[in-house]
Formats: sequence, C-alpha cells, structure tokens
Amino acid sequence: MKRTTGQDRSITQSWRPATKAVRGGTWRSEMGETSEALFLTSGYAYDDAATVAARFAGEQPGMTYSRLQNPTVAMLEERIALMEGAQACRTQASGMAAMTTALLCQLSAGDHIVAAKAAFGSCRWLVESLLPRFGVEGTLIDATDNAAWEAAIRPNTKVFFFESPANPTMGIVDMGYVCALAKAHGITTVVDNAFATYALQRPMEFGADVVAYSATKMMDGQGRVLAGAVCGSHDFIDNVLLPFQRNTGPNCAPFNAWVVLKGLETLDLRIQRQSQNAQKVAEFVEARVPTILYPGLKSHPQHDLAMRQMSAGGTIFSIVLDGGRSQAHGLLDALKLIDISNNIGDSRSLMCHPATTTHHGVGPEGRADMGVGEGMLRLNVGLEDPDDLIEDLDQALRAVGL
Ligand SMILES: *Cc1c(COP(=O)(O)O)cnc(C)c1O
Repeated sequence: MKRTTGQDRSITQSWRPATKAVRGGTWRSEMGETSEALFLTSGYAYDDAATVAARFAGEQPGMTYSRLQNPTVAMLEERIALMEGAQACRTQASGMAAMTTALLCQLSAGDHIVAAKAAFGSCRWLVESLLPRFGVEGTLIDATDNAAWEAAIRPNTKVFFFESPANPTMGIVDMGYVCALAKAHGITTVVDNAFATYALQRPMEFGADVVAYSATKMMDGQGRVLAGAVCGSHDFIDNVLLPFQRNTGPNCAPFNAWVVLKGLETLDLRIQRQSQNAQKVAEFVEARVPTILYPGLKSHPQHDLAMRQMSAGGTIFSIVLDGGRSQAHGLLDALKLIDISNNIGDSRSLMCHPATTTHHGVGPEGRADMGVGEGMLRLNVGLEDPDDLIEDLDQALRAVGL
C-alpha cells in the first residue's frame, strides 16, 4: 500500500470539502488503482516472525486482523473523520452497533445518562431497557427544553445523548447550550447526527464530544448496506472506544465500508439536492395537512434555532393527520411513486407510518411520551423530480379527503 496525499492529514485538512469527499483517506496499492480497493480479507501474512511480533507489540504500523484493522475500512474512517472535522473515527456494522459502542464503551455500573425521549426507537431502547441491566440509570427528557437538561444532571451523570433533528418528531436540540452545560459538569455529549449529516450540521462545532452515525442512511445514500460510525477525539477513540470495539467486534465489514466510501463522494451533492427537493415538497404539503414538522419551514416551532445549526432544512419531514391510523395508512396505500418503506437516506423517496414501524417497539406509552401519534407519517425526500413527488402526494392526499 502506498500512502497518497489523501492519507496525509497535514495536506488533507486544508482541502475544501468537495476535494476531501473524493480524495480524503485514500491509500493506493501497488496496482495503482484510481477507485479505492476492496480488501475482502480477514487476516494478513507477514514476511517473518519478527514483523508480526512488532505489529502486535504496537512498534510497527500495519494490519494484523480485520477485527482490528482493514485497509478499506481504514480509508472510510479517515474520510468520515476528515469530513466531520473530527480527530478520529471508527466504523461499526450498523447505526445501532455504533450507538451501542459509543455508549457502552464509556459507561459503567453506577453511572447515569440523560437522553432525549424523542429518539429513534432502538436508541431509546438502549437507554430504557439495555443500560439499566448493567447498572446504568437513565433519565429521558424533553431534549428541546434547555432547563430539562440541567434539572436532570446528577453527580454521577456521565453522558448526554440526543438526536437533532429527532426521528420522527423533528425536535431540535440547542446544541451550543447543551454541550456547554455538559462541559461545565464533566459530561460527555454524544450526538446521533443521522438526520442532518455533516453536510448540513457539524455538532462538534457546537461543542459535542462524540458524533455517531447510522451510515446506512445518507452516507450510503442508495439503500444498499448497513453501517455505522463514531467520531471523536484521538483520546476518546484510542483509549475509550477502541479497547471496547477491538474486543467485542461490532466492526463494519470491508464490503459495506467500500460501498459507503463510494457513497461519501456524492453525499454533499445528494443532501443539498434532496434538501432542496424536501423544501419544495414541504411547502406544497404544508397547505394541505393540519401539521407539518420540517425545520426548513417557518411554521416549525424551532425554525430559527434549526437554521442557526443547520445550513438547510434537511431531507426528511413528518406530517400529522387528524384521521389517525386509518387516514395515515390510507395515504400510504394511495401512493403510486413514493415507496412505503421505513428506511431513510435513500435516493428514492420513502414514506412510513412510524407508530406501526420504526416506533412500534417503543410501545403505546413510549410513543405518547415522545409525541409519535397514530396520524403521523414521515417522508424521506429523494432525488426524483420534486414535481413528480408533489403530483403523487397531491393525488394521495385527495384519496384520503385532503
Ligand atoms: C436508522 C437510525 C439508527 C439506526 O441505524 P441502523 O443502521 O439501522 O442500525 C439510529 N439513529 C437514527 C436517528 C436512525 O435514523
């Protein structure tokens, strides 16, 4: 393997984002390939016994085993870190593997976590159901309420954990306030940045310590593979996350890493266009539904804060219909172009009913607590022509009397 300029931080850091996106993190093999190579290998062979001993002793850089390092995975990690503006990144098998790793690697029995009650269903399950089994108590709060964060702090609070915008209620967390509060109390802030991505929002610029991703979503961007990522300081990644990850093995597979690596080349282009499309579609839908939740619209209760933290409204919005599940399901069933699908981040427009899909597992009380009603629908706006999406939504809204 040859180090290219793409691997040299002293050079790549000064590149503009578009250059980082296509060249950051690149290693080149002796074949001289232009597209990053896919190393489908679990192990590595060595010229002699002294070499392998030196690598295991940490005295010589190089690969030893793909649970510890893999060249394709390493290229992806370097590129994500560069794009995020983080010192380091490690990738995992899925977004949930990333969230689990980011939390478990730093929490121990007796610790306390404060987390947003409005969150992706499995993120909430981690805090409500998994961590307590290991002696970590959690407090779920309304994360859009600054005072609630301060009120929830205990002497043993170690971590703040939230999404902004939140899935699917689109609540915005005041990151500057919450991260400063955390710092003042020695608390580590972990932000799930799946919805905005680094293309629209950089939580570390607001003081976040750790940014975690479902790379399944916008990073792949075409609905192909599962992957996750955790970004942080060298100290956090090397001394806190890696001892956990190397010994528990939630790693990203090289093939999936390669697919996501190619996805990153177009992430900014896709997100900017999908976000423009979402804005146009949201402006159309706004006049036809009782409630729409989209950070890019003035009607969003936290529009000003959202626009201070994000460079655009994002690719996703939710609507709330008065007619409950039957009207929401009726609208889904009337769609002709937009797919009924619970995924997001795809270049295809996808719509889902969170209460019976992504947030089914949270249960009726959990859904009521976080504001996910039976009339809510979430739309991931894709790369199709927005006028085709508007026509499809127009006829589907008519079909349910709107
Ligand atoms: C999808 C999602 C996850 C989980 O990611 P997977 O790759 O499906 O495991 C976590 N957080 C948010 C906000 C998500 O949208």
